[in-house]
Order: sequence, then C-alpha cells, then structure tokens
Amino acid sequence: MAEKFPIPTYIIIILIISRLISTIGNSKPSNILVPHKLLTLDIGARLHLDPAAIKSASSDYGNIFKENPVAVLYPSSTEDIVALVKAAYNSSVPFKIAAKGRGHSVRGQAMADGGVVVEMMALKNYRNGNGITVGSGFYADVAGEQLWIDVLNATLEHGLAPASWTDYLYLTVGGTLSNAGISGQTFRYGPQISNVYELDVVTGKGELMTCSALKNSELFYAALGGLGQFGIITRARIALEPAPKRVKWVRMLYSDFSSFSRDQEYLISMNGRRQKQALDYLEGTLIMDQGSLDNWRSSFFPPSDHLKIISQVKTHAIIYCLEVAKYYDDHTQSTLHKELQTLFKGLSYLPGFMFEKDVSYVEFLNRVRSGELKLESQGLWEVPHPWLNLFLPKSRISDFNKGVFRDIVLKRNITTGPVLVYPMNRNKWDDRMSAVIPDEDVFYTVGFLHSSGFDEWEAFDDQNKEILKFCENAGIKVKQYLPYHRNKEEWIKHFGSKWNTFAQRKAHFDPKMILSPGQRIFNNI
Ligand code: FAD
Repeated sequence: MAEKFPIPTYIIIILIISRLISTIGNSKPSNILVPHKLLTLDIGARLHLDPAAIKSASSDYGNIFKENPVAVLYPSSTEDIVALVKAAYNSSVPFKIAAKGRGHSVRGQAMADGGVVVEMMALKNYRNGNGITVGSGFYADVAGEQLWIDVLNATLEHGLAPASWTDYLYLTVGGTLSNAGISGQTFRYGPQISNVYELDVVTGKGELMTCSALKNSELFYAALGGLGQFGIITRARIALEPAPKRVKWVRMLYSDFSSFSRDQEYLISMNGRRQKQALDYLEGTLIMDQGSLDNWRSSFFPPSDHLKIISQVKTHAIIYCLEVAKYYDDHTQSTLHKELQTLFKGLSYLPGFMFEKDVSYVEFLNRVRSGELKLESQGLWEVPHPWLNLFLPKSRISDFNKGVFRDIVLKRNITTGPVLVYPMNRNKWDDRMSAVIPDEDVFYTVGFLHSSGFDEWEAFDDQNKEILKFCENAGIKVKQYLPYHRNKEEWIKHFGSKWNTFAQRKAHFDPKMILSPGQRIFNNI
C-alpha cells in the first residue's frame, strides 16, 4: 500500500472536493458546498493523494488507457465505502467513484477520471483472514475484494469448491461478478453470476443492501453482470459443490473447423449438472504459426510431439485445439477411462493427435498462474493488452471462421497470444441479470487475448476494428464480453432489448451516475 500523508482529514476533503469540482465541467470552487457531514467523517485518513497511489489507480492490465483520479480510498471496512458514496451522493456536485478489484480490465473500466478510486483489495488487510466464510450449507460468504484463488483454497479446506470458474484465478470476486465470469465450465454450470445466492451491495445512494432472487431482487439481477453500474459488491454468497480430487485433461487437434465445432457442440449438449457422462470443462483454441506452441495460458504438449504438431500447423495454417476435462476422485476413478472412451468415440480429431494429462484439481484450475509468473519475470506481463472478447451465435460461427480466422487474422499475421473459441448453452444464463449474450440457444465465445509491444497496440486495435466491421457487414450479431464501447448509441445497441431495464435500474440505484464511470455508459462525452 502507498505511504500515508499525515494531512488532517478536513484539509484532504476540501482539497479533494475542490480538485473534483475543478475537473467537473465549469463549476467554480467558490460554488462548492462542502457538506458538513463529510468533514466529520474519518475516511480522510484512508484517502490517498500521493503520486504513487494516483499512478497505481490510473492504469490497468490493458496498459492502453491512463486516467488519473484525484484520490484513492484504501477502505478499512464496508462502512468506509458507504461513507464515501454517501458523501458523493450528498455533494452538490457528485463526484465519480470506481471500485477497483485487481484492475485487470483492459480499457480503463475500473478508472475514475477526476474522481475517487476505491482500492477494494485494501480491505483484505483488515479482515484478519475472515474474508471468506464457508457456511454450513453448500455456500461460502466471500467479501467482494477476495481473489478466486483464495476462495478455492479456503473452500477446499472443507472439501468443497465453486463449480464455475474463470481461466485465471487472480481476479476479484466483485470484478468478475460485474462481468459474468466464464471459462470451460460455463457450458454445464453456467457463468459465475449464475452461481451466486446473495449479495451485499453499496448502491450509488450509499445504501448498503442485501439482495437475492427473493429479496431486493431488482438490485440482485442488476448487479450481476452489471459492469459496476448499480453498486459496489462487498459480499457474495457463492454456491459450492463437493470438490473433486483429480482431473483428466485432454486436448485433441483438428485441421477442419466444421468437425471441430461440431464435436464441441456435441460434447456440450450433455450438460446436466447431475448428468454423469457430461464433461466438466470444454474450451478450444487456435494454434497458428506464432513461434511456439506454448503460451501463458498453458504449456501442454509433450516436447517430443512439438515437431509433428508444428508440421500440421505449417500445412493447414490454423489448427483447432479442442480442450476438455473430466473431474474424478477415488469413487469415480475406475469408471473414468471407459466413460471418456465412450464420449470420445466418433469424434473427428486428427488421428494420433490426442494428448492427455492427469493433474490435481488445483493444478488444473490454477493452470494459468505459472505462465503469468514466467512472463512477469521477463517483464512481459505488463505490456499493452488490446484484447477483444466476443459472444456470437452458433449459426454464424462458420462464417466467422472463414471471414475472421482464415481471412483477417491470417492476412494480418500479427496475432500473438491465445485465441479462444468455445461454445456454451444459453439456458445456463439468467436473462434477468444485466449480462448480455446472443439470442441463440448455443453461442460461442471468441477471445483474442493479444499482448503487444508498447508501440504496436494500435495495429491490434485496427485488427479488432476490422473484425467488428466484418461482423457488422456480414450481419453477425456479436456481443462484446468485457465490453468497450465509445458512445451511448453503441451501448444501446449492445444491450438491445435490455437497455431500457438497464437504464431504469441505473436511475433507481445510482441516479446521480456516480459509479464505475470508466465503463463510459452513462457519463460518456
Ligand atoms: P477490475 O478490472 O478492477 O474491475 C472491473 C469492473 O468491475 C470495473 O468497472 C470496476 O469498477 C468494477 N468492480 C470492481 N470491483 C467491484 C465490486 N466489488 N463491485 C462492483 N463493481 C466492481 N474473465 C472471465 O470471465 N474469464 C476468464 O477466464 C478471464 N481470464 C482473465 C485472465 C486475465 C489474465 C485477465 C487480465 C482477465 C481475465 N478475465 C477473465 C477478465 C476479468 O474477469 C475482468 O477483467 C474482471 O473485471 C477482472 O476483475 P478485477 O477484479 O481485476 O476487476
């Protein structure tokens, strides 16, 4: 945490308010009515104005946007957050507030230009290890700033674990629940937002509310996938299941896209939570001639097989890699092999191109970490990340393959980093929530997880724009995941039939448009 400045609270508050006012429109500092209550609050001691604090809150994993807040709150409790939001709400000129989890957004979504950033992870320092409580039912109460890796470790102590994950576990619970939280488990268990029973949320009026499907349900559904627009999530009650011990992890390679997607869709058609033969995880990636078969998401293939895989890549330009996993434990170990054999019978992967690993459950879920640490040690983790993540209807995935993977991507030949492509089932999502997905029963996620040099990210952005333009021209109704839109019209289009509800909920829970300004939905230029 950055060093504290021993400035009296009231001076800090006045300074912040005047700086906030000077950054908001034309209001003159002389117009400011500093609310008396604000001056008496004790959060001042945890508000930081020093350059180190401002700097750390003004960038994100994307490393493309830079926006300076005027202050950063390192809260010691939920009450601190309530006090800050109330202060903004009651101010004659409300200032913007962004909760920041790990700042793993890529387009400034957790920034607050001229406002106050709340460094949620500071709360961890005051929890005394009590940020995650495993309840007597199958759930855990998890504070909003907790990382999923910590949720995993804490719940495993009880032999339990959440069913739905992200690929990477060093993200906060509040941050992923504000988007959706997707991974290879989503086709069967739904996104993380479908695995939450209850939330505590500090709304844009500074009210701390508990909400669930039965209580304050409008806020519950608004906040899940709500891009931080309706409140700051301070606690989530997360569904748990008995944790498996081990994982059979398999990759199969395809040269033909239609066989690849047909097999993916067949495998996700078995998706009942209690359906014994169903897989637990399914994803897919593109393998192209990028110098190495490994990337930060995983190194998987045995070195002795690299040459034969590379030879396929050279022949076909793109090889499609289907990745699946099946969990098992002592009871199911004996039947696992037979079940997988039955499941894989009739799949059309390239003969001789199936690869297997047998790993612990934790090793599987935390598979991205070692890649991260390696890149970090080489200074390559903190480079620009001009990512593009899309959801698109199953009926157009083949057109997307032709027009984007085999045309735009191969022609431009700049793609570095993983390109994900895998399907999921719409019925595992709850349409009352704010998250937006395509209309069809099965839809794909495609993620271009680019890393670029500091002077090159615009070339990747151009490719992203070309992809979006292609989809628009071809009438492929894509929705961005972790969306970035430049103006209100684009947001209205993004939300489609959900826009009116989204806007009404905003007017209700954050009427002064205080929260998560970095999403640029309501406070766009
Ligand atoms: P931040 O970036 O800090 O915040 C994101 C948004 O949520 C902001 O608008 C912020 O204001 C708001 N917010 C933050 N905390 C709260 C809170 N407590 N209450 C309300 N609003 C809040 N996503 C997936 O779904 N699946 C993946 O597999 C996946 N893998 C990833 C791997 C990497 C390496 C990275 C960098 C990102 C990945 N993501 C993935 C994306 C990730 O889910 C989002 O970037 C998410 O927002 C990151 O969480 P964060 O804690 O860093 O949130």
